[in-house]
Amino acid sequence: MEGVSQPPFDPAELEQRILDAIRRGASMEDIAGLRPARMASPEDAIGALKEGNTRFFSGRATRPEADANQRRAQIMTQTPFAAVLACSDSRVPVEIVFDQGLGDLFVVRVAGNVVGESGLGTLEYATEHLNVRLIVVMGHEGCGAVAAALMSEAEVGREPENLRRLIARIQPSVRDLPPIRDKKARMREAVLNNVRHQVALLREQPVIQAAEARGQIRVIGAYYEIGSGAVDFLTEEEDLRP
Ligand SMILES: [Zn+2]
Repeated sequence: MEGVSQPPFDPAELEQRILDAIRRGASMEDIAGLRPARMASPEDAIGALKEGNTRFFSGRATRPEADANQRRAQIMTQTPFAAVLACSDSRVPVEIVFDQGLGDLFVVRVAGNVVGESGLGTLEYATEHLNVRLIVVMGHEGCGAVAAALMSEAEVGREPENLRRLIARIQPSVRDLPPIRDKKARMREAVLNNVRHQVALLREQPVIQAAEARGQIRVIGAYYEIGSGAVDFLTEEEDLRP
């Protein structure tokens, strides 16, 4: 049996184990069972994302996609180890940035990585029914949606109705920013503050709150730098306070 002291998640090793299981005629349930047992804690899940991102930004990505055996192993069920709330921005493809494959991540992508009812329900589903070990709210460098939230009311007023509502979800996060003259640094702070607000919002939901209290999950923040490809993780409570 898999214990809690498993080595960090290694996609290549997992692929080999699935292959071995298929060769020895293991049932689909057994093969599916290879996955969740390996991610024993939220810390393991954070470690897997950090390692995957390091592979990505250092040009050593394994790109574990579309392998026939992995697909077959997932017919019965999905067992993603983390849920990620990220921006729809085309430069922030979550699986690629974390070098993860089919079935690894449960992803919600909305411009500005803010959640409404459907987004919250999706993350509740991931927590309650898929038993993910981690929820990551990931903002990114140069986020157009956050930039829009910094525009004047007159400018925002010219946008279509639903887009205005989306921008309105981000605005409270950027309203009381400290005065930072450097434009790039100011944008980064706005994105980070939006991430912190979304983390706080998720933590207000009873299902997520209870899962975090019993140690099933952690809710953390992240900042993706498009230029370098590196993700900064916000894991300390002081980094997460809005
Ligand atoms: Zn964005």
